[in-house]
Amino acid sequence: MRIELLCTGDELVTGLTTDTNSPYLEARLFELGLKVERVVVVGDVRERIGQALREASARADVVVVSGGLGPTSDDFTAECAAEAAGVPLVEDARVLEALRERVARRGRELTPNVARMARVPRGAEVVLNPVGAAPLFFLRMGGCLLFFLPGVPREFRALVEGEVLPRVRAELEKQPGRMYRAFRLLRTVGIPESVLDTRVAPLARAHPRVVFGFRTHAPENHLKLMAEAPSQAEAEAALAAAEAASRRELGMAVYGADGDTHAEVLARLLTEAGATLALAESCTGGLIASQLTSVPGASRFLVGGAVVYTEQMKMTWAGVPAELLARHGAVSRPVAVALAEGVRAVCQTTYALSVTGVAGPTGGTPEDPVGTVYCALAAEGAPTRCERFVISGDRDTVRLFAASHALELLRERLLSVSSS
Ligand code: ATP
Ligand code: MG
Repeated sequence: MRIELLCTGDELVTGLTTDTNSPYLEARLFELGLKVERVVVVGDVRERIGQALREASARADVVVVSGGLGPTSDDFTAECAAEAAGVPLVEDARVLEALRERVARRGRELTPNVARMARVPRGAEVVLNPVGAAPLFFLRMGGCLLFFLPGVPREFRALVEGEVLPRVRAELEKQPGRMYRAFRLLRTVGIPESVLDTRVAPLARAHPRVVFGFRTHAPENHLKLMAEAPSQAEAEAALAAAEAASRRELGMAVYGADGDTHAEVLARLLTEAGATLALAESCTGGLIASQLTSVPGASRFLVGGAVVYTEQMKMTWAGVPAELLARHGAVSRPVAVALAEGVRAVCQTTYALSVTGVAGPTGGTPEDPVGTVYCALAAEGAPTRCERFVISGDRDTVRLFAASHALELLRERLLSVSSS
């Protein structure tokens, strides 16, 4: 099945908005075993939209069109579709009624520009939009089926799930010899992509039904597993075997799967342990706190954090002795340890993490070059652990990796405590 996407909107060709609808739909279609053949993006120009519709429908079996179904004067995709199909626009009474009810619920009258959204190409199959105003419609042009969807990403996604994918799946079911797929994304931290590749390569040979792919998303590396088989059950079984083998090989480095985030996994471990956490961040400037507080319910474990950027605040907020700072410098093992222990004492938590380092681009020394970071973990009833890392990359990279290394100290501890 040949599939193409067409996105319309001036904002997409003037650098104002990045097209996120296409990647979303591409990923969902790929899970069905379909690779989109072409994505065309055009501005709000009638002739260009019409031309793009005629060309795509001549090449493809299915075309998914996004944008330009709304009430504003730059929304004219329905007009272009009618013209390209050689049919007039007709008013759909059911859509008009739905629009009238929708505006009435908001205490307003139906205006001519809102009513315009009820005009669809004659012969189109029209579906009311459960998550927005503009209806979606499907139109056949020659041998091609075209889906017209609103551009608003939230609506686009909901309608892809509810209306487009079921229809595409039904078309696929009719095809003989179709293959079924199953996916898993394993998320790792702490191992470079090349090492991941080397360790996993022998597994790929033992699992011929599974494609092993890699994706770097600093500071993480992801292993993508895609199984393909003549039935869904066989695909799932092949995937489960490859996943188990990968997890055995990679051990601790796999922190989660699919939609998990590093912060979410830590949040889960801390919550399960009934533990609390405090932070003293220097070069990460609150990044760890920001990541952890992005998880709903973070107040169950995160007590607080201090951005101790200057020496003065390292002393005032985390009780680091002046003498220690003078003797070792702010970026040093003893200061990282004192920060973690100090902030844990202030916040009275089970654990405390600290980070101090040189994010760059200036400020390095021969012993501690730019990218040197000390992370420490203070824990109730255990000696403080401190690690030194030398991270290469720009300022943002150093900060991202520093935060991830600190979280890893904590994850390792939580896992070892829970397994002992
Ligand atoms: P509306 O009823 O909102 O007018 P519409 O179908 O006319 O819906 P557009 O006007 O093209 O859609 O776009 C609506 C919003 O969705 C705009 O903010 C636009 O930037 C955004 N948008 C449109 N297409 C895309 C896309 N492909 N990727 C991401 N955002 C998009
Ligand atoms: Mg619009």
